[in-house]
Amino acid sequence: MEKIILSSDNKDKIKEIKEILKDLDVKILSKRDLGLDKLEVVENGKTLEANALKKARAVYDIIKGHIIIADDTGLFVDALNGEPGIFAGRYSGENATYEENNKKLLEELKGLEDNKRKAYFMAVAAVIDKKGNEHIVKGICKGRIAKTYRGEGGFGYDPLFIPEGCDNSFREMGEDKKNSISHRRKAFEEVRAKIEEILNENSSNQ
Ligand code: IMP
Repeated sequence: MEKIILSSDNKDKIKEIKEILKDLDVKILSKRDLGLDKLEVVENGKTLEANALKKARAVYDIIKGHIIIADDTGLFVDALNGEPGIFAGRYSGENATYEENNKKLLEELKGLEDNKRKAYFMAVAAVIDKKGNEHIVKGICKGRIAKTYRGEGGFGYDPLFIPEGCDNSFREMGEDKKNSISHRRKAFEEVRAKIEEILNENSSNQ
């Protein structure tokens, strides 16, 4: 079975991606599965694309012969001129916890009504095929930032993000519903199509 390598250390993200791609006839391995959990990638690109590619390239340079995927996600809040944007993971400082970032976001938006709390997630995924060709895909989920925590814990800003047309936050709606509408879902539907295309090309060249 074809092996696909996911260049990520984030267990929440890996879980979601595995779930979204579960119908593909491939084995998905993470950096950790390959003993590469010590491989640190400095996310100092100026865009989500640059950071996603950097993460994918770092693994491609070590492990050849497999398709490598990485994603980078940003949260863009209108009232904050797009902040935290690509710095979503470090909003309240280097090595910030999800809780610290959420607290800062609530503080920054304090007193604003719902119509002033619009935001969107953007996930960018980079796929590097076996020959080293790069493919970039994107997914967006629009919504707003809740006034208070809506659900406890979970992944990143999930307790604060209410997708457009929904009454519940990502955290409240549960994994299955989130995975059916999220930015990551949209990006990884395209990743799935790209992987299928690459695998079909490979098999017709054999
Ligand atoms: P990353 O750079 O792609 O790892 O994402 C940066 C940060 O964005 C993460 O540390 C999370 O705080 C947040 N984030 C990314 N994806 C999601 C999501 O699906 N829900 C909530 N927060 C997310």
